[in-house]
Amino acid sequence: MGMNQRHRYDILKEWLNHSKKTVVLTGAGMSTESGIPDFRSQSGWWKQIDPRTVATVEALEQNYSLFHAFYTRRIQALENCMPHEGHRILADWERKGLIDCVATQNVDGFHRVAGSKNVEELHGSIQTIRCQACGQSESLESFLNKESCTHCGGKLRPNVVLFGEVLPQDSWQHTIHHIQEAELVLVIGTSLEVYPVNQLPTMTKGKTVYINLEIPANVNYFDLTIEGKAKEVLQQVNEGLDV
Ligand code: NAD
Repeated sequence: MGMNQRHRYDILKEWLNHSKKTVVLTGAGMSTESGIPDFRSQSGWWKQIDPRTVATVEALEQNYSLFHAFYTRRIQALENCMPHEGHRILADWERKGLIDCVATQNVDGFHRVAGSKNVEELHGSIQTIRCQACGQSESLESFLNKESCTHCGGKLRPNVVLFGEVLPQDSWQHTIHHIQEAELVLVIGTSLEVYPVNQLPTMTKGKTVYINLEIPANVNYFDLTIEGKAKEVLQQVNEGLDV
């Protein structure tokens, strides 16, 4: 529609250079180019089951075998994956003072691995384990071996936020605070279908940019949209950024 891709990159470059406070919000689409499938575009990829029905409190409590098999597979899949150039560019932008914070729905920990320091993991992390009943920390190994909690015998689970659970309140509050103060919010690789994170882009007075493989028709409140792959777009925008 009118504006070509090159022009969109130039606008984003200019906004990035001029914004005094920029916040980045990422979702599963940020990590697909690292080889980690997202939920939305690949529903049914695993045993014909929609992952969104397994990443739930109900599955944990009532169908632990399925829950355990699902997370075992996701943890193991991570072992062969690494952050990509796009993650590294965001870390670089933070070091250069171009962005202030990355708030992510991803549980893979890749923003930190790539060097970002100011990261809010809104949906927790898949790399650490706790007991569902008493909260005690346990090792990843114990979880993978399908052991029970050594303290109370409860079920072990990753420290992710399941559908049906509240977000870690300190991360959530920090993110809202950053977003409200931001002059620019970059939203990358999320379907914006998961509540409450999908509310965040509407909480800013700053400019908003949506970078995603597809731009759904109902997502029409951004100042700028860039249809494309996260890594590719970040590489293009990074080129010739005068910092
Ligand atoms: P989602 O699966 O609902 O949406 C992903 C979006 O990213 C889709 O709109 C898709 O078109 C887009 N996309 C796919 N590849 C892309 C690419 N290369 N570049 C740009 N966009 C791309 O994911 P969500 O919105 O993050 O919400 C789903 C939930 O699933 C979250 O709660 C998240 O915690 C969890 N999840 C996390 C991971 C991870 O940690 N890597 C992976 C899968 C799911």
